[in-house]
Amino acid sequence: KSGFVALIGRPNVGKSTLMNHLIGQKIAITSDKPQTTRNRIQTVYTDDRGQIVFLDTPGIHKAKNKLGEYMVGAAERTLKEVDVILWLVEPSSYIGAGEQHILDILKQVKTPVVLAINKIDTVEKEKVLAYIDTYRKAYPFSEIIPVSALKGANLDTVLEVLMKYL
Ligand code: GDP
Ligand code: MG
Repeated sequence: KSGFVALIGRPNVGKSTLMNHLIGQKIAITSDKPQTTRNRIQTVYTDDRGQIVFLDTPGIHKAKNKLGEYMVGAAERTLKEVDVILWLVEPSSYIGAGEQHILDILKQVKTPVVLAINKIDTVEKEKVLAYIDTYRKAYPFSEIIPVSALKGANLDTVLEVLMKYL
């Protein structure tokens, strides 16, 4: 089995941390600065279940200029072409303008979307459950999985679910 996964999510939600944990070494660049990743970084994860090529889509955020518009277009094409989308969010604020923008894009592409709620090591269980509930009502996600990219919690579940869609 092998296929493509688009990893999306706001700056600082933990995308690089997740990639680093999966790969087990520092390939993706973690940074506190938003939008440092101009180009797509492709991370390839392989185990005996299969191979996943992760694509970074930095242009998914709202366009502010011509370059931004070009990047949004490129990101949308990527989302249509991949086998499954992995959307990473963090339980620090509810669905805001940025999340709504992504939801609008997801409604246009027909690709299955797996939602991972990251940083569950930082919040109470009740809050995580409330988050799951809010997101479940907002979009027909294929799966919603609470994770901690930093601690490695539930990451194998994420891989197992992603593999189903390859
Ligand atoms: P990216 O911008 O989406 O690539 O986010 P990063 O991977 O660079 O992570 C941003 C910050 O969040 C870093 O300081 C990470 O250490 C932290 N972070 C990422 N995942 C977790 C997590 O599961 N738990 C906690 N507590 N911090 C995390
Ligand atoms: Mg990053």
